Amino acid sequence: MKCQTPCVLFICLLLINCKTQKKESIEIDNELINEVTQEVVKTPKSDAQIDPIAHATAVLSWKEKTIYIDPAGGYKAFEGKNPPNIVLITDIHGDHMNIDTLDSLNLSQAEIVVPQAVAEKLPASYTERLVIINNGEIKEVQGIPIEAIPMYNLREEALKFHKKGRGNGYIITLGKERIYFSGDTEDIPEMRNLKYIDKAFVCMNLPYTMTVESAADAVLEFKPKQVYPYHYRGSNGLSDVTVFKKIVAKNPEIEVIQLDWYPDIP
Ligand SMILES: [Zn+2]
Repeated sequence: MKCQTPCVLFICLLLINCKTQKKESIEIDNELINEVTQEVVKTPKSDAQIDPIAHATAVLSWKEKTIYIDPAGGYKAFEGKNPPNIVLITDIHGDHMNIDTLDSLNLSQAEIVVPQAVAEKLPASYTERLVIINNGEIKEVQGIPIEAIPMYNLREEALKFHKKGRGNGYIITLGKERIYFSGDTEDIPEMRNLKYIDKAFVCMNLPYTMTVESAADAVLEFKPKQVYPYHYRGSNGLSDVTVFKKIVAKNPEIEVIQLDWYPDIP
């Protein structure tokens, strides 16, 4: 019993010492992480400007070229933008192939890149502008290589939404930069196996595509330099893209870029 006070004192001193050391090492770790993060997350030099229009729809500007991805939302959504030289359409659904919007736009200079299934649904007035490209093919359009990547569902209950072979994701090569638009897909092996992607636009909504967790897991595997969550409005509102960002942060070399894809939602 006599030794109780010195023993307690000794243990207290030991604990305080451990705590201080732990705090210091956490601070050092944080500093290191910050340094490493600042080092690797430098935005790669890019000549491409990307404007989100809404949901799956974007406008890409590169040198003198303007590329519309899945134009939807009517002509007003494109006010102030140059008319497109190239239009890419991924699939037959209205948020990707929107005939009313196509009819309302100035497509007088445009070539329209589509999978066969979209070509079959577009009115004959578009036929002469179409460049048909199917999964796995690469075509050069106005000097820009465009590769069609498969997009489809994997979950049994979602197979009805996007069947393999119908729609196209795309890799657009602008100079040295490879930009990937996933289209509506799950974390398919063809996505996980992608290489050397600079910017990846990845969908994540339920029930139509995939969870934020599946999207993040695939992104950690194919490691684009930058990833843009897009197409994340589902039947129960917007997916939680902050969870996506948190999971992708496991690899500090991948930068997550959040654009405003839903300007109508406050
Ligand atoms: Zn969609």
